[in-house]
Amino acid sequence: MGRKKSRKRPPPPFIPGLIDSHCHLDYAPMSDDLEAALERARAAGVEQLVHIGCRLEAFDPALALARAHSSIFTAIGIHPHDAKTADDAAMTRLEQLVVENRDDVVVAIGETGLDYYYDFSPREAQREVFARHIELARRLDMPLVLHIRDAHDEAFDIVDSCATRGDPGIVHCFTGTPAEARGWLDRGWHISFSGIATFPSAAPVLEAARACPADRVLIETDAPFLAPKPMRGRKNEPAFVSFTCAILAAARGVSAEQFAAETTANTRRVLRLPEPESPAPASC
Ligand SMILES: [Zn+2]
Ligand SMILES: [Zn+2]
Repeated sequence: MGRKKSRKRPPPPFIPGLIDSHCHLDYAPMSDDLEAALERARAAGVEQLVHIGCRLEAFDPALALARAHSSIFTAIGIHPHDAKTADDAAMTRLEQLVVENRDDVVVAIGETGLDYYYDFSPREAQREVFARHIELARRLDMPLVLHIRDAHDEAFDIVDSCATRGDPGIVHCFTGTPAEARGWLDRGWHISFSGIATFPSAAPVLEAARACPADRVLIETDAPFLAPKPMRGRKNEPAFVSFTCAILAAARGVSAEQFAAETTANTRRVLRLPEPESPAPASC
């Protein structure tokens, strides 16, 4: 028996102009050396990132993180896992922080939605808190970031019964079928694909990613979870969005550069992100 070989994995490809539209930068080990993770992301072509602060205690750190880095923006909201904690005080605090920061670092409300796979909060609480986020987003004219797992039909019932904005937002880390993707697209939503779409076991998700119109598709890492194919099993980080970009571009029959440009334009439009700050011009 030979020694177990450590498998050498390729570095993330450099694809200019990427955005990681959904990541959680507040998890160790990434949070212990965030500057190095951001440098690796830049080296892979990632220009902007959207960090999600999805618990009440994570809101203020998310704002501080985004204020400290011109490339980082944030969405804040209460995750369906924590719906049971979303009392009136938490929702009031969320509204206050969105109102105070929406012209600056807060670009969306979320992630909110339904997770019937884990059921960490009672379903009734998840539904009620999801509806409250939709109402808040409409009232404040903000896009939503949705987390929907094993609950697309129930989520359709809720968004259909609540009035949403005309351009309602993003269904993140999509894990449904092409028909479920169609349901979101028909209701005006954008769809964001993570490394899951690169897993050989997730053929329906890849099919949904192939079929998603070029003006409605986004990409993300959802770091530190679910690293894409060549890094599967490792902790995910924003640099790895370039693997997902390359794999989905090939599946869609376009260059990685073109797919990066499409997904970045969509992210910037739906979240109203500014162009990235260009480096200071060299003196002549
Ligand atoms: Zn999520
Ligand atoms: Zn997330």
